[in-house]
Amino acid sequence: MEKADSPLQQVQANIAKACKIARRDPGDVTLIAVSKTRSAGAITPLLIEGQRHFGENRVQEAQEKWPALRDEHPAVQLHLIGQLQSNKAEDAVRLFDAIHSLDRPSLVTALAKAFDKVGRQVPCFVQVDVGDEPQKGGCPVAELPALLENARGAGIPLAGLMCIPPADIEPAPFFAFLDTLARDHGLVGRSMGMSGDYETAIRLGATHVRVGTALFGERDT
Ligand SMILES: *Cc1c(COP(=O)(O)O)cnc(C)c1O
Repeated sequence: MEKADSPLQQVQANIAKACKIARRDPGDVTLIAVSKTRSAGAITPLLIEGQRHFGENRVQEAQEKWPALRDEHPAVQLHLIGQLQSNKAEDAVRLFDAIHSLDRPSLVTALAKAFDKVGRQVPCFVQVDVGDEPQKGGCPVAELPALLENARGAGIPLAGLMCIPPADIEPAPFFAFLDTLARDHGLVGRSMGMSGDYETAIRLGATHVRVGTALFGERDT
């Protein structure tokens, strides 16, 4: 009897299918397994299956979990997908390989300083508040051009744009909007799409999808 596909294999197959429909190269879409709240015991099977990109939303939680896991799996790439306080910028720069939540000038300053101090540059996505929900973080759309100019001036390596559309409404227009903004500003990366909508996001240009529940099951709240 054939073994059933693992959740990772199912998500990978869905990504491949969405890429085919969109005539996109699957190599241009990075699956980030969102491991926030998950224990090392829950994460290890994915590492063994070969998953390399993981996302965490809190610096401290990542500091507690990942150094030990990384000793075993040195190729891991860690993505910070949650809001970042300026006073945690240095810790974030030491631990993460990409930051998806750059959203304000004060954080540009803090990150530039942290890059200098740590001697390491981390690619950053600028998070855009596409749904006008300031509580989720993200730069107001009207302030994006100035923030990008500020970040470029400070020497921040810009990977692209990121968004978290409003819950419970059709996300496609927001993904299309982020794609347009990225194109207008000459940025390659589009970090968009979660468990419920990553295939839609891929059809609309996502280069990084952030998937938690579909890989690990429901989170305890
Ligand atoms: C938790 C989280 C995700 C993953 O959400 P799922 O619905 O579990 O796939 C993606 N992006 C961000 C910013 C998150 O905080």
